[in-house]
Amino acid sequence: MAEESAGQERLDRITEIIAEQMGADVCSIYLFRDAETLELCATQGLNKEAVHQTRMRIGEGLVGRVARSKSPVNTADAPSAKGFRFMPETGEEIFSAFLGVPVQRLGEGLGVLVVQSKEARIYSEDEVYALEVVAMVLAEMTELGAFVGEGAALKALHTQQALFRGGTAQEGAAEGRVYLHEPRVVVTNPIAEDPHEELRRLEQAMETMRGSIDDMLSNVSKTTDKEQQKVLEAYRMFANSRGWVRRMEEDIALGLSAEAAVEKEQSATRTRMESVPDPYLRERLHDLDDLSNRLLRLLTGQGKDTGAEMPDQPILVARNIGPGELLEYGKKLKGIVLEEGSVGSHAAIVARAWAIPLVINAKRILTEALNGDHILVDGDQGVVHLRPEDAVAAAFRDKIAMQTQALSRYAEIRDKPAQSLCGTTISLHMNAGLMADLPSLENSGAEGVGLFRTELQFLTRARVPRRSELATIYGSVMDAAQGKRVVFRTLDIGSDKVLPYMKPQDEPNPAMGWRAIRVGLDKKGVMRMQLQALIRGANGRPLSVMFPFVAQFDEFREARQHLLDEIERERKLGHVLPEKVEIGAMLETPSLGFAPRQFFEMADFISIGGNDLKQFFFAADRENERVRKRYDTLNVSFMTFLQQIVQRCNETGTPLSFCGEDAGRPVEAMCFAAIGMRSLSMRPASIGPVKSLLRRTDLNEAKAVIEEAFQSGAQSVRPAVINWITGQS
Ligand code: PEP
Ligand code: MG
Repeated sequence: MAEESAGQERLDRITEIIAEQMGADVCSIYLFRDAETLELCATQGLNKEAVHQTRMRIGEGLVGRVARSKSPVNTADAPSAKGFRFMPETGEEIFSAFLGVPVQRLGEGLGVLVVQSKEARIYSEDEVYALEVVAMVLAEMTELGAFVGEGAALKALHTQQALFRGGTAQEGAAEGRVYLHEPRVVVTNPIAEDPHEELRRLEQAMETMRGSIDDMLSNVSKTTDKEQQKVLEAYRMFANSRGWVRRMEEDIALGLSAEAAVEKEQSATRTRMESVPDPYLRERLHDLDDLSNRLLRLLTGQGKDTGAEMPDQPILVARNIGPGELLEYGKKLKGIVLEEGSVGSHAAIVARAWAIPLVINAKRILTEALNGDHILVDGDQGVVHLRPEDAVAAAFRDKIAMQTQALSRYAEIRDKPAQSLCGTTISLHMNAGLMADLPSLENSGAEGVGLFRTELQFLTRARVPRRSELATIYGSVMDAAQGKRVVFRTLDIGSDKVLPYMKPQDEPNPAMGWRAIRVGLDKKGVMRMQLQALIRGANGRPLSVMFPFVAQFDEFREARQHLLDEIERERKLGHVLPEKVEIGAMLETPSLGFAPRQFFEMADFISIGGNDLKQFFFAADRENERVRKRYDTLNVSFMTFLQQIVQRCNETGTPLSFCGEDAGRPVEAMCFAAIGMRSLSMRPASIGPVKSLLRRTDLNEAKAVIEEAFQSGAQSVRPAVINWITGQS
């Protein structure tokens, strides 16, 4: 394998050697030509004419099955095995025994290695294991570019364009070059001559690693951080796991170098990680993955500091990153892409404060990206283009240019009201959840914060925050708002927002489960603590509070009473009371739209949480792209329902606003205004575009278009509205 030759020759030679060594009639190597298709790239024993002709999709035939399951298929009677597909051009029908193993690197499938024999036999465990080890070496060689040749299947890795879809954590677009936070370890010596020496190296690296974990543990013990201590103890337990070490030792005995042995086990761990549904187990496998990384760095001497220079327009790519590390990089970063991460993470907080586009959950980007790669980050869509084609890059640049142009247009109207052509003024507010969001209040031209999601402070901590801590935060938010109204939404946890320190609830349907006000009313301690913190944070200023996910009048009445009780309690304690208190409800469940009139009278204001309301109205999960997209917000049924809510609020004089994502979409926002909503709350970046459209619209005319669409039997008012808008401009 160490022989120097061109890619194709090398593959041919390898199949020859394996077939001979394993006493097999056939040995073939299949490599991926694209994400879905495998191609026969070399064979000993099958018809040579089939090379580069025979292809199968992932999951198709036995080879495709190996690729899909990323695990071996071993059968004595291939033609009658599940999934067998007859490929006449290969002449393989005469072979009975089949053993296929995945060629994979760090959980990334690269191809399939197969041996076949006429004799109907099952390959022994040792043989399967040996072939897996060979496949591991093949994977390393593929990564190192040993099999580069003609055609898509023999292309060099890390040269093709790749698209990653993740989530958006900070909007904006950026173009630049990849800068890896922790560059990937490259194993240049997958095979070794002297197993004893490799065992010694592994042993030594394990020793060093265990020592450093012990050090960390003794430091943590001193600080009495029980949480962290537990994590590290689990970590140490893994570092001492006999099974793990034994498997690596066996790999070495078969000829792998110590680092290749670590990587082989890491690959297996990652494959398991993908298929384990239990989050706890996945987390543990994650620990094991982390330990493997540490070992690899020790063995290869490739630390974080590889001397790679930071490129001019650096886009940081990392699995995850802590706020401290991010602060060290400073504002010179043009964008950030994380394989993991979450909107509520501290890294997201920093990125938001600096307005650096951030995409999270860009799965597998670390296996693809190399330092210096050309990269485009679309923080609005949560999309990343790696090594884009020129046309994609050009379109992206156009988008950036248009955004810059639009931004300067929006800046011009920043201090102007969102007044329509017919003279109606709509109040535009922004949604926030972090201190770092507050500077946008000034920049965006928002009149206030229409929705301050308070759960982020709870999500980013290891334990329930203290009342004093929260009071300080709420006070600072009001300070930063400089007298503008801030509507604090009480804790909305449950559903997708699981607190790390709360016992996970095993609920069949968490979005419709024990969440938001339901938790608050059952666990009064936390709700009361938060209400006290809000009163204290206000420190004599006006206070606006709204309760999320109210489904019936009584829930609102009860929660409201808690706030009134807390105010009374604070009064008795002699604390300063808010100058004025407004208590509102979020209308996020259809039932509340049909609540008794007394509810609308009692609520000081109502805010429609359209994200939830829409999902429950259509019974379509907001996180499930497949069903979510079926239902348009401008669907006639939904719009009729919204109009009824407007009407009921008008009857009781209850101020109404809309704070779901749709309020930030100009066409939707315009339609909401046309059916009578006078207040909208959205992400700061949407205020400019929404205001711009509202200022160009006659809402009476828009209303007439909508009414006509209602009568026409159309499913959605959108086509008519879009037609009307485009006809106008
Ligand atoms: C909503 O449901 O529309 C809303 C604003 O609340 P969240 O998105 O936090 O559930
Ligand atoms: Mg909601």
